[in-house]
Amino acid sequence: MLNRPLALVVGMILLLVVVWMRQPHPQTEVARTALIMGTLVEIKGVGPDKDQLEKAISEAFSAMRVEEDRFSPGIATSPVFLINHTLEPVEVGPQFLELFALGQRISAETRGAFHMGLGGLIKLWDLGSVSPRVPSEAEIKQVLPASTDTLTVINTNRVRRLSPAVQLDLGGIAKGFAVDRALEVLASAGLESASINAGGDIGLLGGHGERPWRIGIQHPREAGELLATIDLKGEAIVTSGDYERAFMLNGVRYHHIFDPQTGYPARNCQSVSVVAQSVAEADALATAAFVLGPEEGLRMLEEVSGVEGLIVAADGTIETTSGLKDQIQWQ
Ligand code: AMP
Ligand code: MG
Repeated sequence: MLNRPLALVVGMILLLVVVWMRQPHPQTEVARTALIMGTLVEIKGVGPDKDQLEKAISEAFSAMRVEEDRFSPGIATSPVFLINHTLEPVEVGPQFLELFALGQRISAETRGAFHMGLGGLIKLWDLGSVSPRVPSEAEIKQVLPASTDTLTVINTNRVRRLSPAVQLDLGGIAKGFAVDRALEVLASAGLESASINAGGDIGLLGGHGERPWRIGIQHPREAGELLATIDLKGEAIVTSGDYERAFMLNGVRYHHIFDPQTGYPARNCQSVSVVAQSVAEADALATAAFVLGPEEGLRMLEEVSGVEGLIVAADGTIETTSGLKDQIQWQ
């Protein structure tokens, strides 16, 4: 039994704690940027404790750099690099297998429009170079894999490349996967309100304070202009566009999303935005729908559960999935 004065003190302290907890705490917002996976990544965190936000955001950037090291074909220690340089089994971790399984599922759902083995083709087009060129048909034929399959998963920690024609490139999904990992870090650090934008791959934690996050969708033909905005809470939205990593030659636009059937940039869309529960899924589906084109792409997005999308066709006409119609504000 506590004696009476002590019980009184404990009671007072408890009361103060309750009163303090019921006070509205002023929220601050911290925004930081970093260059990761060749993209300017912006992380915003909202909460009462600035130091906690700063620390969590630094940890989230570190988590993204870990994924960059894992999935970049140009980093000599990455499993992707190792896989691309041998036909022998290569050891990989659970994160690699998780991303690969998701990519495989989306590849199957899109009849190979999403293809994780186009590294040879991507190197040939070399869209990142200062003077990209259009390769010849013969060159393209040489590097185009015959099958949509890329790797054999041997067991829970080893994979093997299927053939020399396959060069793994996970650029259509890895950024989204990295944003998902960073969101997990922010959530475990106690954040309830955050956004990450990695060049159009957007992942959200909660709302923007009490309200939803208002997300702008880039206009594919007017640089710096928005096509629409959409209000979201705790979801992911990813846009794939033909305006990124692109060049014009004789009035034709050449860009970085390739049709695995032809080896040329996919021709039927200007941009595709996909809303999903995870950024990795939205990322891969946006790339896949872009390749499929407005009709088949929209049908596919309607069919995948928990997913919505918006497609700007090559002629500028816009289609959305049925669930998105009421959520969009046109600009
Ligand atoms: P995103 O910006 O997410 O649409 O992804 C484009 C990137 O994915 C390219 O820069 C390539 O690294 C890779 N990629 C290109 N075409 C495809 C495709 N058909 N399937 C999967 N990945 C692709
Ligand atoms: Mg993508």
